[in-house]
Amino acid sequence: MKLLRPLLTCRLCWRITLTVFGLILAVESVVLIPSALQFERNDRQRLALEAQILVQPQLSIARGGGPDLASLIGEYGLRAVAVYGVDGGLVARAGRGELPPSARAESTSAIPVASAVNEGDLLVSWRSMGPDARSVVALIDARGTSQRLEAYVLRVAGLVAIIVLIVTVGTMVAVDLWVLRPVLRLRDSSVKAGADPDHADGFALRTRRGDEMGELIRAHNSMLEQVAASRARDRAMTEERARFLARHDPLTGLPNRAALLEFLEHRREMAGGATLLLVNVVRFRLLNAAHGSQAGDRMLCELARRLQRVAAAGDFVARLGADRFVLARGEPMPLGDTAALAERVIQAAAWPMAASGADTVTPSVRVGIAHAGEGPFAAQDLVTHAELALGRTDDAYGEKYQFYSADLAEEARIRQQLAQDLEQALARKELSIVLQPKLRLEPGAGEQLAGAEVLVRWRHPSQGMVSPATFIPIAEATGLIGPIGDFVLRSACEQIRAWLLSYGGSPRLAVNLSAQQFAQPQLAEHITWVLREYAVPPGLIELEITETAAMRDVERTAAILAELRARGIHVSIDDFGTGYSSLNYLRRFAVDTIKIDKSFVDDIGKDRNAEAICDAILRLGHSLGTRIVAEGVETEDQAAFLRRRKCDEAQGYLFGRPVSAEEFDRTWLASQAAA
Ligand code: C2E
Ligand code: MG
Ligand code: MG
Repeated sequence: MKLLRPLLTCRLCWRITLTVFGLILAVESVVLIPSALQFERNDRQRLALEAQILVQPQLSIARGGGPDLASLIGEYGLRAVAVYGVDGGLVARAGRGELPPSARAESTSAIPVASAVNEGDLLVSWRSMGPDARSVVALIDARGTSQRLEAYVLRVAGLVAIIVLIVTVGTMVAVDLWVLRPVLRLRDSSVKAGADPDHADGFALRTRRGDEMGELIRAHNSMLEQVAASRARDRAMTEERARFLARHDPLTGLPNRAALLEFLEHRREMAGGATLLLVNVVRFRLLNAAHGSQAGDRMLCELARRLQRVAAAGDFVARLGADRFVLARGEPMPLGDTAALAERVIQAAAWPMAASGADTVTPSVRVGIAHAGEGPFAAQDLVTHAELALGRTDDAYGEKYQFYSADLAEEARIRQQLAQDLEQALARKELSIVLQPKLRLEPGAGEQLAGAEVLVRWRHPSQGMVSPATFIPIAEATGLIGPIGDFVLRSACEQIRAWLLSYGGSPRLAVNLSAQQFAQPQLAEHITWVLREYAVPPGLIELEITETAAMRDVERTAAILAELRARGIHVSIDDFGTGYSSLNYLRRFAVDTIKIDKSFVDDIGKDRNAEAICDAILRLGHSLGTRIVAEGVETEDQAAFLRRRKCDEAQGYLFGRPVSAEEFDRTWLASQAAA
């Protein structure tokens, strides 16, 4: 039964077998029906002949008298017989039963003609040949015919059934042997090969058959071999690619950090020293965002090519991160040569290249340089040193490359420590604000207060006061600028609220916004929300944005400044003149105030160029209807110069240092309020 099971459940076999079965049955039926009809005809003819053989001798004997027909009745089923003369008259008749005289007319031949009269009766007629030709009509009991026919049909049908059975079983066995089993083996082999394609060839089937099934199995085997071979090829390629990717950057195809460290490690072992130029694409993320990542990728590939062109034979060019490349030389280079190489790298990068559509972009790069002498050195340290040097480059001041020096490492360590401490500073209430007055310079204004700038202070538990110039960049780098900026804004609002309550008015307080704060989405909404919380009218708050921050994305800046002003918040551009912006950009920015940077004020009376710049800023500002504030005014001469040039306001130690809110209140507000 177990052996038969696959056969019995095989749908294919059943289809073939049933088709064969049906076909045989159809053929047999086509043969059986005519042969059954023929059988019936033959049987009747036989009965007719028997009747003739029985009656004919009597006719011959009875020539002269009359035939003795009565003695024949009952024999061979003869029920009635009638003989007619040549003239058609009845000569003799015997037996019972209707013998239609018309039957006579049909008997024109000596061979008897039989026709069924009713169920079981047969009418037979013939003409007895000779000079006294007579017609004979006989009625025969033919009931046996249908029984014989039935038996015949049963016999034949039984035979057919046996044949069908034998053929069907034979077909099934043949199908099982020649088709089903090989097909099942093929199926199993395919399933197993599919589950383990790496070893597909191990599931090949053996066959010696020379028919189509043999060909199919051989084709299947060769397919399995191909699958296994192709998998092996794929595996080899994947391994090769993984090996490549482990040491290369997939985008540019340049070696990666691991490969660079290997290269440096090798130089260390050879005690050959090394020079490392770490190249950083300035503001790559912004470019990428502005032109799309595809353009960003193209730009990186182009930069990689340019770096390779600058590199000498034997130099090692690698990509370290999204916007970082390295050009390493396997020897310590003289400083002058290294600087020249860095210059070449910077210049090679600074050619325009296609960005998105017809736009071009001119990338700018910064380079951090580290050397290792011929003594031992750690590869990773060299990279870290180059990174520290890179951190000291200053795009704003055109210091596009920097060499590593030992104090950079110390500085980095201190910054790291400060960054950790700064995290706690807010919670430990180490931060506070101070206020520095801004005074009107207009003639006759005397020492009239125009407002105050809010400056943040950090009293470090062990290091004392830390300058915001030091910790604000750290806060920007670590993301702490968000909460710190919020603290300053809220402190300013709280102070304004207090003064509004005690004096019914308050000077406008200017709060500095770092570049990162300025870049945050929904800035205007956030500030408005805080002002509402403290019920501070927007006109009492001013936001200072450095020129460099404002210039990062001119379009966006213009939009945000317009939005802030639309909400009634005052805006000023801080440290104006230190960035690269052309004065013309000011026309695009809707600002209330421009603050001339302290460096120009410092040079008043010393440098004609600085004075000329102050002049230009004042002229342009006034033509735009913008107020101008001079920062860092320390001397009477500077103040006099600025007054002559109609500078609107001044801020500086000459008028007042940044002081606590209480002191500011005492010095600048209480007396005025009393007056
Ligand atoms: P800034 O916004 O340009 O602020 C003016 C800086 O010049 C202040 O230094 C101020 O104390 C100093 N200053 C004012 N008058 C004189 C003067 O006559 N002589 C000299 N030598 N210095 C003068 P401070 O407070 O150290 O702040 C330095 C910078 O730190 C600020 O420059 C500002 O960019 C940033 N900063 C300060 N507080 C904040 C803050 O709350 N948030 C943000 N984002 N940045 C701040
Ligand atoms: Mg400021
Ligand atoms: Mg400033």
